[in-house]
Amino acid sequence: MSRVYNFSAGPAVLPEEVLREAADEMLDYRGSGMSVMEMSHRSKTYDAIIKEAEKDLRSLMGIPDNYRVLFLQGGASQQFAMIPMNLMKNRVADYIITGQWAKKAWKEAQIYGKANAIASSEDKTFSYIPDCSDLPVSPDADYVYICENNTIYGTKFKTLPNTKGKTLVADVSSCFLSEPVDVTKYGLIYGGVQKNIGPAGVVIVIIREDLITEDTLEGTPTMLKYKTHADADSLYNTPPAYGIYICGKVFKWIEKMGGLTAMRDRNEKKAKILYDFLDSSVLFKGTVEKDSRSLMNVPFITGNDELDAKFVKEAAENGLVSLKGHRSVGGMRASIYNAMPVEGVEALVSFMRKFEEENA
Ligand SMILES: *Cc1c(COP(=O)(O)O)cnc(C)c1O
Repeated sequence: MSRVYNFSAGPAVLPEEVLREAADEMLDYRGSGMSVMEMSHRSKTYDAIIKEAEKDLRSLMGIPDNYRVLFLQGGASQQFAMIPMNLMKNRVADYIITGQWAKKAWKEAQIYGKANAIASSEDKTFSYIPDCSDLPVSPDADYVYICENNTIYGTKFKTLPNTKGKTLVADVSSCFLSEPVDVTKYGLIYGGVQKNIGPAGVVIVIIREDLITEDTLEGTPTMLKYKTHADADSLYNTPPAYGIYICGKVFKWIEKMGGLTAMRDRNEKKAKILYDFLDSSVLFKGTVEKDSRSLMNVPFITGNDELDAKFVKEAAENGLVSLKGHRSVGGMRASIYNAMPVEGVEALVSFMRKFEEENA
């Protein structure tokens, strides 16, 4: 067996320990005589798995009692519609456009009401986070929406926007559990787990209780109402059972590593190794303004498309895979999520150094 250093933006690297544990339990989950994949989601055994996953997530993030945790499906993209359908009571919402994911969410919201783009960084190819300290927040906005970490462009909000009292909604798909978080600053936090937590197929929504109501937009399907899932403790229908089980293992792994503070320290250390190299390199350069840099996704370029392609190819031959940038921006991108060990980033930088010597 040979494992590579996998810099994929998602689905992405998972802790090896978690994969081994899952492998050990594959045929017989703790004496049940079956795999978690084969188990009824109404069984006692599975109920304990989903309850424990929620409990561990609550303790990691310090989620207050007046917030619900929902394990849903449909990808982060389904939330682009589910959020306005459930939250747009006045049919007005403000969006901060910091990349393609925010833009898609904004476009989707326009189907349901007046979705205003109150700030954008598109003028410089989304290479920075706009100043959000005094935005023209709409007086009747139902919420202000952000994509907190921009997976494609490699930017991250370092301070949350001043929403002037409006509910903050955040897509945290690519920075979920990467650092400590004050949940009370948000009305709704959500993310697809396939970036930083688990296998594709699970979306976690953390939502303040008062935002869960019967009063959704007319025509909202039962499955797209938060209330449906909250009332049924995420077991209204068959949940993505195996995926939730793996998420639970990752929560325990993070706890064992020292929780979110330890995750942040480790992520800062990894990102610093890569950014310090990029700042001193004569061949490679980062594409993001320094004070907007993500700890999770690091895009970089040589400035020469052929050389970029050569780098991606040779890196893969050396066990450093999935470094190609998003198809819309080109260049390279190293996603260095929680599960990427420090050694993986060190190996990347040492390969970049060698490539630079040979090609600069
Ligand atoms: C990947 C990603 C999405 C889309 O996720 P799907 O689960 O594929 O719908 C949305 N937002 C962000 C920030 C992402 O990184």
